[in-house]
Amino acid sequence: MKIWLDGGLQDVESARVSVFDHGLTVGDGIFETVKAVDGTPFALTRHLDRLTRSARGLGLPDPDHDEVRRACAAVLAANPVPLGRLRITYTGGHGPLGSDRGEHGPTLVVALGETRRRPESTAVITVPWTRNERGALTGLKTTSYAENVVALARAHEHGASEALFANTVGQLCEGTGSNVFVVLDGEIHTPPIASGCLAGITRALTVEWTGAKETDLPLDVLERADEVFVTSTLRDVQAVHRVDDRELPGAPGPVTAKAMRIFEERAGDDLDP
Ligand code: PLP
Repeated sequence: MKIWLDGGLQDVESARVSVFDHGLTVGDGIFETVKAVDGTPFALTRHLDRLTRSARGLGLPDPDHDEVRRACAAVLAANPVPLGRLRITYTGGHGPLGSDRGEHGPTLVVALGETRRRPESTAVITVPWTRNERGALTGLKTTSYAENVVALARAHEHGASEALFANTVGQLCEGTGSNVFVVLDGEIHTPPIASGCLAGITRALTVEWTGAKETDLPLDVLERADEVFVTSTLRDVQAVHRVDDRELPGAPGPVTAKAMRIFEERAGDDLDP
């Protein structure tokens, strides 16, 4: 397995990052997960734009898009897989112990993992912890993901694959690694970015392609929604057949099934929509 580090390909076994890298010591880093279909990254331009937005939010230098594109292409060529997940990690680089950044520039790592298509439907839970819709990191895709790790472990304990958060004012927000949509009276709704959710790329494409509305939704909308689905780079559009103890028999329902179909067709037509 080859990864990209320090401007070139390296063997994953011998590649080294400083133990004082701020990505490790203080979670000072950002990342993107990009799906790669038969060696071609999906929606890479949108991922690079979000990487830059996250970098600016953290005060990191703008990532060099040409280098990241070259890195993705090189890693994909060196590790051919039918369906892959590129992981682009960009950290504050190595510096002193503590929160001040050092003199060194950022660290860029691009790696690839094999992945597989997700099931058509899944179970989710809600968790009692909240997303902060007004934090310094709100909306940034940072490597500070421990809260998501904890919530996802709780989901797995309950036989679910995703955990959904409300924000601090009780509105539905997002999952640990996905955005959430509900169907009410035949219309698709998803929480607005102001809810504190990540501006998911699959979310944006789904809104664009299905006409879903961005609506403030209370968490308990999940108790009455006709259909629920989640979206992410690795799930695409995935129906939800259980929320906590509430079963949603027949998932995907008709509206979700149509959204899944539209997404698959449009995404298949254009790998960089
Ligand atoms: N929300 C969070 C917290 C995420 O980490 C992710 C993806 O990893 C998403 C939403 C979905 O975003 P995307 O569709 O860009 O994968």
